[in-house]
Amino acid sequence: MHTSGLMVKTRKDKKAEQEIHDMRAGLLAWYDKEGRTLPWRVRPEDRAAGEIADPYAVWLSEIMLQQTTVPHGTPYWHKFLKAFPTVTYLANADREKVLGMWAGLGYYARARNLHKCAQMIRDDYNGHFPKTEAELLELPGIGPYTAATIAAICFGQATNIVDGNVERVISRIFKVEEPLPEARKPLRLLAGTLADPLRAGDYGQAVMDLGATICTPRSPNCAICPWDDFCLAKEKGTPEAYPRKAAKKPKPIRYGAAFVAVSKGEVLLETRPDKGLLGGMAGLPGSEWTSKRLETPLKSAPFEGDWIKSKREVKHVFTHFELRLQVYKAEFETRPNSNQAWADDYLLAGLPTVFKKALKAVQL
Ligand code: SF4
Repeated sequence: MHTSGLMVKTRKDKKAEQEIHDMRAGLLAWYDKEGRTLPWRVRPEDRAAGEIADPYAVWLSEIMLQQTTVPHGTPYWHKFLKAFPTVTYLANADREKVLGMWAGLGYYARARNLHKCAQMIRDDYNGHFPKTEAELLELPGIGPYTAATIAAICFGQATNIVDGNVERVISRIFKVEEPLPEARKPLRLLAGTLADPLRAGDYGQAVMDLGATICTPRSPNCAICPWDDFCLAKEKGTPEAYPRKAAKKPKPIRYGAAFVAVSKGEVLLETRPDKGLLGGMAGLPGSEWTSKRLETPLKSAPFEGDWIKSKREVKHVFTHFELRLQVYKAEFETRPNSNQAWADDYLLAGLPTVFKKALKAVQL
């Protein structure tokens, strides 16, 4: 393995120009041959032939894949593009339909922002995505990573794309000892020193691909890495120890009750308040989710009935807490309130996962 003396001298904060040039060239050559082919992506040879990435398709994929894997997210991407072939179609769609189609991807605030963002692009930009990172950042649900990605991939802007994959690769290349999340800012600066302004989109996708396919969290395959000659963590022999992470605090637990009212084979649903978790989504009626076990859960029932408690408590982990739900079920021959929404199996299939678990707990 070769490690230049120059790099050793500058390892703490930056790399020398020649080394940066070599790293960019090596990575892009690898990407041109080995980069992933994804349905929303324009491969380098097609880009060279004049093909341009569709910002709508790229944006959809980026929002969908922020918290899920490519195999899980891709069918949703196809489904959305089929139902809403342009950003204006999406903007004009009924929000409930958009949220329903999102079910299974989690993080519903994203779906609400997706819809809002589409409407802003329709109304303020005549249905065309803005081209600059700064303008993209003004749109709902578009953060620094997504803005940098769209601007680079679709509009060729020299941005600095940093996602979790890039953070991992960069922390290993520079052997950054500071733990995440504090290391986020220095990692971004270091990533910026390597980013290639001439092929910004390809470079960004290349580092992300490197992280997704070779420099993986638990078992980086350094033997086939285009950056193995430049990697300080590999040189040390412990690449998987990076990025360093601060010890995780245990997630707080919240408690609640959910009610499955069944009538004529259908289940009572309610729309959750716009603000808060799963906002605007259909859900089962129930209590608030609080830090203490409910003393009188039946007080939160939508109406009186012979509520039978499921023997099984539902557990569901959200980003910031773990939820424990007691689930109650009752059958009603006549519907106590004719104005409420009752749902059949088809609609129930689109419920957020936590409520599907609740239905399962009472075997529906
Ligand atoms: S050499 Fe190994 S640890 Fe370093 S970037 Fe490549 S795969 Fe990751």
